[in-house]
Amino acid sequence: MNIPYGRQYIDDEDIQEVVNILRSDFLTTGPAVKNFEKAVADYTGARYAVAVSNGTAALHAACYAAGIRTGDEVITTAVTFAASANCILYCGGKPVFADIKKDTYNIDPEDIRQKITAKTKAIIAVHYTGQPCEMDEIHKIAKEHNLLVIEDAAHALGADYKGKKIGAVSDMSTFSFHPVKHITTGEGGMITTDDNELYQRLLLFRNHGITRNEALMSENEGGWYYQQLKLGYNYRITDIQCALGISQMKKLDRFVARRRILAQRYSDELGKIDGITCPLQKKGCSSSWHLYVIQTPNGRRREIYDKLQAAGIQVNVHYIPVYKHPYYQSHGYDNVYCEQAEELYKNILSLPLYYSLQDEQQEYVIETLKKII
Ligand SMILES: *Cc1c(COP(=O)(O)O)cnc(C)c1O
Repeated sequence: MNIPYGRQYIDDEDIQEVVNILRSDFLTTGPAVKNFEKAVADYTGARYAVAVSNGTAALHAACYAAGIRTGDEVITTAVTFAASANCILYCGGKPVFADIKKDTYNIDPEDIRQKITAKTKAIIAVHYTGQPCEMDEIHKIAKEHNLLVIEDAAHALGADYKGKKIGAVSDMSTFSFHPVKHITTGEGGMITTDDNELYQRLLLFRNHGITRNEALMSENEGGWYYQQLKLGYNYRITDIQCALGISQMKKLDRFVARRRILAQRYSDELGKIDGITCPLQKKGCSSSWHLYVIQTPNGRRREIYDKLQAAGIQVNVHYIPVYKHPYYQSHGYDNVYCEQAEELYKNILSLPLYYSLQDEQQEYVIETLKKII
């Protein structure tokens, strides 16, 4: 038995779409990129979408478009993948970590308020495990303090917040298409926005800061001419990847529906076990269930992790609070303490959760866990 905590699902149709692109004229910067962007924009309800090389590039681009620069502070959660904070550093900004709420494990709006200073420019909210953050509350705070709101929605493609799809809720939302996420392009990312100005900045940033748009250029010397206006990067994604993404988007609702069924079954079965805390399912929004995170009995996480691994069940831990990493500790974060984040980290385990996880495999995970505990 070998059950990973997450994995991609690729079928013959996906493979055929990729092969078609390999035989076509454009391997990059071609029509598949635009079509993939349209598919994600249409699905989420956002006006614009910009596809980039990975989810971290999407976060970097969003911070750039938000105008984050040296001296700016950006508030994000302590319980996330390092990229949610690293993107702030890439722009010269300072990540400020807010604690999480004890029940949802998402960023605590009250603690955001506590952490706001005159230097705060933006909030990066992370929909941890796919459960939407309290966006109304966060938007209220942002409005009061004139802050931009970016959602790191790497876990939340397909999630709903009060009847709206995640991706069309804030100034910008970013997605990742790493193989463990809801859909994959191998590596890939996307930023969605309704704002044309942000959209134009994202386009420039993805491609070295270069434009051929006459409206943006100071002069035009001919058909060959282009200008580099800003310092951007090569964060382009290939048509090969986007062909896979378009094909995967057709299956997204099926992927999410299956994850919801699997999550419900975990909750039904594990909720009965003394000592295990199952994740809360908050009313008014619908998680896309990127991760299913349980809390194990106090002091037993390492033992349970090792026993599950030995049984071929590759559980994982999401996440070590970002500021605890040596890089952050040696860069001025050794005094940071987010109590709820550190308490959560002590006992959590992410159980296997992905579209193609079979009922018998899930049964095996549940039974093995019952035996250990
Ligand atoms: C996966 C992930 C990212 C980074 O995405 P990549 O495509 O791997 O660069 C960022 N934030 C969160 C919360 C993630 O889970």
